Amino acid sequence: MKGNFIGGEWVGSASGRTRERRNPADEREVVAVFPDSDTKDAHDAVSAVAAGYREWAERGPEARAAVLYRAADILAARADDLARDLVREEGKTLAEALTETRRTPSNLRFYAGEALRVAGRTYATGDGSLVYTSREPVGVVVAITPWNFPLNIPSRKLGPALAAGNGVVFKPSEVTPLTGQRLVEALLEAGVPAGSLSLVQGGGEAGAALVADPRVGAVTFTGSYDVGAAIHRAVGPSQRCQLEMGGKNPVIVLEDADLDRAADIVVRGAFGLSGQACTGTSRLIVHEAVHDALVERVVALARARRVGDGLGDGVQMGPLATRAQLEKTQRYLDLAATANARLRAGDEPLGPGLEHGNFVRPAVFTDVDPSSPLAQEEIFGPVLSVLRVGSFDDAISVANDTAYGLSAGIVTRDLGRALDFARRVDSGLVKVNQPTTGMAMNAPFGGLKNSSTQTFKEQAGETMMHFYTVDKTVYV
Ligand code: NAD
Repeated sequence: MKGNFIGGEWVGSASGRTRERRNPADEREVVAVFPDSDTKDAHDAVSAVAAGYREWAERGPEARAAVLYRAADILAARADDLARDLVREEGKTLAEALTETRRTPSNLRFYAGEALRVAGRTYATGDGSLVYTSREPVGVVVAITPWNFPLNIPSRKLGPALAAGNGVVFKPSEVTPLTGQRLVEALLEAGVPAGSLSLVQGGGEAGAALVADPRVGAVTFTGSYDVGAAIHRAVGPSQRCQLEMGGKNPVIVLEDADLDRAADIVVRGAFGLSGQACTGTSRLIVHEAVHDALVERVVALARARRVGDGLGDGVQMGPLATRAQLEKTQRYLDLAATANARLRAGDEPLGPGLEHGNFVRPAVFTDVDPSSPLAQEEIFGPVLSVLRVGSFDDAISVANDTAYGLSAGIVTRDLGRALDFARRVDSGLVKVNQPTTGMAMNAPFGGLKNSSTQTFKEQAGETMMHFYTVDKTVYV
């Protein structure tokens, strides 16, 4: 690994410390050794970008867009290689990794286009003067990202931030340092000037120091609620802060649903990415009239799911990304036993050759108490809790009974009830007859309640550009 990128140079941490990243499918394999950055590294990275970003801002939108289009082409040409490394570093299946590496160039192209659409307004005056607003870059943007989409999420932050003329200090997750480095390499090769982009590798110490730096104009973060809440407490009153956090996403299946289709929607949402998607389905809320028939189908699909190294043929679910994720998932599985929930899938033996990885079988619990931790807390693993309800109204109140509000789905043939659900569910994304996972890159994306900050919640779409620009009102 090359290290941190600060002030135009690849350097180690001032602390001299390093960390290792191991392959989650086989923890004996070291995938990356990278700097474990400290407060001084964070300070230096902000200094470099604060001093250098204006040159980038002054290039103008067309020139900045051209650089982002070039970066997209570079990443597109490398999509297959990036995907294979992503499997080794994070644990996705190859198909999931390719979806991500092919989507990332499109994100950059979308925001390259948005660079040219930044515009202000003019205002009527009575005295012949000209009054207009202009939208200027914020200045130094800090982007802190999780490991579960280590190219896609950073591209949706660095893309618009750079398109708007900001300088960026990027701190990828310590779980996916290699993929973070690859993104920065492509941007630099494409022509993003060294003074407007810093890469700081490492974990919470570096992240906290970046957020606390008063020279930072905006912090964009995606990750867990607890870290997001700590960042929210740390930022100053003049700093912009955009937080995208966890979910406890429900799917409601009504009594009129096509049950084969419903089971497929539930299983894809719950066990895709090994249950490690912020929009992953973790609660199945099902009408009692179809409960048993649907559970039978979901359990059969879960039990049939092929778990293994994401590079293996026909593998449908890779390992959990870290040992800590595996232990956390295991804790919830143990807790379920004491909460009288019934384990219906997940106790099958793992296949041979998986003993050195963070593997777990997809789990399905029925008879889950809606107020139990299993039904309330984000597990971020392949664990589905089934909750039985007697009516549509009950289903909505159970769906809304968590602190989160990221994505929620309904499976029904009744369009009226689907639209009623869309109005009444406390969720930033609403999916009708689709898995809770998956998003359109050009539409707004963000959660309600504890899933997002509500001042700046969008994490995609054209509204993103508002976060990365400040308005000035000019009188001439
Ligand atoms: P995390 O909160 O542990 O870490 C996220 C990032 O924050 C990492 O880069 C980490 O190094 C950094 N960090 C840790 N402590 C910090 C501190 N004190 N100050 C500043 N930065 C700090 O999350 P994770 O385990 O990487 O990712 C999983 C979480 O991300 C889940 O909760 C998931 O729901 C959420 N997520 C949300 C979305 C969304 O769009 N809402 C998308 C993906 C993931």
